[in-house]
Amino acid sequence: MDADEFRRHGREMIDYVANYLETIRLRRPFPDVKPGYLRELVPDEAPQDPEQWKDIFKDIEGIIMPGVTHWHSPQFHAYFPTANSYPAILGDILSDAIGCIGFTWASSPACTELEVVMMDWLGKMLKLPDEFLFCSGGNGGGVIQGTASEATLVALLSARTTAMIKIKKDSPDMEDGMIISKLVAYCSDQSHSSVERAALIGVVKMNKLETDEDGVLHGMALQNAIAADKEKGLIPFFFCATLGTTISCAFDKITELGPVCTNAGIWMHIDAAYAGSAFICPQFRPLLDGVEHATSFNFNPHKWLQVNFDCSAMWVKDKRLVSEAFEVDPLYLKHENQGKMPDYRHWHIPLGRRFRSLKLWFVLRMYGQKGLQQCIMKDVNLAKDFESYVKADQRFEIINTSMGLVCFRLQGDNDTNERLLKAINDEGRIHLVPSKMKGKYFLRFAVCASRTNLGDVKFAWQVIQDATENLLKET
Ligand SMILES: *Cc1c(COP(=O)(O)O)cnc(C)c1O
Repeated sequence: MDADEFRRHGREMIDYVANYLETIRLRRPFPDVKPGYLRELVPDEAPQDPEQWKDIFKDIEGIIMPGVTHWHSPQFHAYFPTANSYPAILGDILSDAIGCIGFTWASSPACTELEVVMMDWLGKMLKLPDEFLFCSGGNGGGVIQGTASEATLVALLSARTTAMIKIKKDSPDMEDGMIISKLVAYCSDQSHSSVERAALIGVVKMNKLETDEDGVLHGMALQNAIAADKEKGLIPFFFCATLGTTISCAFDKITELGPVCTNAGIWMHIDAAYAGSAFICPQFRPLLDGVEHATSFNFNPHKWLQVNFDCSAMWVKDKRLVSEAFEVDPLYLKHENQGKMPDYRHWHIPLGRRFRSLKLWFVLRMYGQKGLQQCIMKDVNLAKDFESYVKADQRFEIINTSMGLVCFRLQGDNDTNERLLKAINDEGRIHLVPSKMKGKYFLRFAVCASRTNLGDVKFAWQVIQDATENLLKET
């Protein structure tokens, strides 16, 4: 493909993308294919000779789209949203064209410097304490990780190293293996699976603490667990709080939990992957009170802030605890300006990194803070509308409505609700996923796609009511 062909086919592709997104409402959100469907549609081996672009282009609709789950369909209400906006897509195109691998400042200065500024912009939008920002001139700063899971892992591993250094200072004879076998981390029974996984990868114990009936973790639960574990000879070192759990969008009491961590001298990481975006709205910012106690904080602009995957924003109060935890310094990665700007290779697991701050920059400028606040409020209000429909129907009960998520169920047993969900998803007009809290199975209705409007929410409720009628008729 030469430059002229690229220009021509590029325009075709942009047209295809715009058409896809503007008519996505017409597609079934969840695909109707069986595992292995795709292998039957493509040759067994890569072609020996070059193919024509038009043949490849044709296969998008024939082979790919039948198996796509349309996350940006306004009838998609599963999991949590993943962002998708034209400015972010354009940012990614430019990032692909520049194609740099920004592991150090010298490997592409703009890649590092824009990220530094964007993390400060974003941190100020959330009104994070100055200590987390580069512009404070202290040790704080932010980095774009690929995912919240990676941010949690980096926090846990950094906390582990920090704890080991401290313990060795006091007890120089203790072997690394011995220390690690005594370390214990904490999260709640509502935490995302990636938190438990971080402990598995970090080979440390994870103590999952019991939450209240609303899925909220309180300071007392952590304080008691720390005391009990110390009694057993274990060494508490890390706690991951959640603001906006995946199960029901519950918020841990970080104003209580923070001081417990400070007193115990353990690292508090906050996972606000989904709900974090809402903190740019003055009305929701109080939910972030207590963040001043955290050692690290993370949320995903790629969920609810119009920035396409992947863009997970992580801040630390003391960047040295992360960047020096795993420092290795081969000659080929050294450069003469070391230390003046972050070398982000020290802040995460991989070496290579894309120019992800470009899409963030485009989005923040094209929407403005006000535009982004409006997007959040629109989704929150749509969730409230949905909640009001559920509340008006005596057959249903609300478990929780929080941000853009409504957790609800049919009055009655779990089995009926499981069958209701299966009927809804099998029919395929909308897509939902379930969750379970304290033994209660329920359905989650998340406002996901940015194009979702009141008509879509009414449509979804109609689909749910139809399925309910059918189910109740059967039984
Ligand atoms: C979505 C979510 C995650 C996982 O996010 P990734 O970026 O996919 O790793 C973690 N924690 C919470 C609370 C989430 O909502």
